[in-house]
Amino acid sequence: MNILLLGSGGREHALAWKLAQSPRCDTLWAAPGNPGISELATCISLDVTDHAAVLAFCEANVIGLVVVGPEAPLVDGLADALRGEGFAVFGPSKAAAQLEGSKGFTKDLCARANIPTGGYERVSNQADAMAALAKFGAPVVIKADGLAAGKGVTVAMTMAEAEAAVLDIFAGRFGAAGAEAVIEEFLEGEEASFFALTDGSTIVPFGSAQDHKRVGDGDTGPNTGGMGAYSPAKVLTPELEGLAMTRIIAPTVRTLANEGMPYSGVLFLGLMLTAKGPELIEYNCRFGDPECQVMLMRLESDLVELLHACAENRLAAIEPPRFSTDAALTVVMAANGYPGTPEKGGAIGGIEAAEANGAKVFHAGTAIDGGKLVASGGRVLSVTARAKTVTEAQGKAYAAVDALDFPGGFCRRDIGWREVAREGA
Ligand code: ATP
Repeated sequence: MNILLLGSGGREHALAWKLAQSPRCDTLWAAPGNPGISELATCISLDVTDHAAVLAFCEANVIGLVVVGPEAPLVDGLADALRGEGFAVFGPSKAAAQLEGSKGFTKDLCARANIPTGGYERVSNQADAMAALAKFGAPVVIKADGLAAGKGVTVAMTMAEAEAAVLDIFAGRFGAAGAEAVIEEFLEGEEASFFALTDGSTIVPFGSAQDHKRVGDGDTGPNTGGMGAYSPAKVLTPELEGLAMTRIIAPTVRTLANEGMPYSGVLFLGLMLTAKGPELIEYNCRFGDPECQVMLMRLESDLVELLHACAENRLAAIEPPRFSTDAALTVVMAANGYPGTPEKGGAIGGIEAAEANGAKVFHAGTAIDGGKLVASGGRVLSVTARAKTVTEAQGKAYAAVDALDFPGGFCRRDIGWREVAREGA
């Protein structure tokens, strides 16, 4: 079958790598893709906000499956447009993608379906927001309702910080995404990510991961899109995974289906492991980046079969996903300056040397300039390794990082520290 993959990051390079391994994959197209993806797929430029153009491409190239990497096209209804014309799409409808597109939508759904999550209030003006803050007290969490690329959330330890966050949102910093906000109870515990595939009725677990959002070692400094991740997250024991499935994912899928917006695709749960059990922090409607890289490094099943079955509502008829018991870990190499203004154009060499020990270097923000590979974004490479333990995978990933020649980049040196400490204990 011919497959069209949408996106250009490390997540999409990992998806392309795994899709291309499938005997079911004939021609793989990627829009826009990146230099790493171009070794596996034919990269084309296609405006994903122009649904008619994407449809015309799918028709002309007999696309059997469209895999949507990032959230924006899903929240924008691309999957609906393609499904409406009979194409198989991996990714939810616009209505179901509100799980990621509107934090208030998700909180209301949790309330209706009795799903464990922090207490909250939806507010649409500054005065109501301040009144809600006074009720919750510090620490408290303030979130712009819509998509804000991870920048719309403030975990405020003091009332002054909380009030500043409210002023920021209602001064219009996030545009339409901040027309509404959610004021939320602060949850305490360790965070973990959990993934499940669903076609709207059948749900299959797709593994766990933990990521590192802060730019600096020891989880310090400003937030980023993610500086590294590992899988599995053993802190999410089989018992806790079971609770996440029965208390959170199953009622979500059931409620959305009952309300006429069945969810099809991957559900990515941000969980807080509290004293009361796993509570939902957030839903994402696509694979995480860089979590996808570590999940796919461990996946033994055929990704095309899984995503296609999901898109065609026949997940119950195929074997559930199988993962290696090995661990995987990825280290993100970012361009100097990230997460502020990253330096673009820095030369990248040594990828072959880095991969000599079996590690895989996924491209995230790279470009070809004058025939040479250069940095073109904040997060540039995702250096991923698999081994028996997280400690071994960490050693292998950093050996690969050290073999790279990328003077314009940096990485954290402690990715996986929680699990490495647990394994050493
Ligand atoms: P991202 O794109 O980074 O996933 P987001 O904008 O979708 O972020 P959330 O995941 O909802 O936002 O929140 C970002 C981070 O803020 C979480 O990973 C968590 O560390 C913290 N956080 C969010 N909600 C809470 C809460 N209720 N209690 C404690 N911490 C929270």
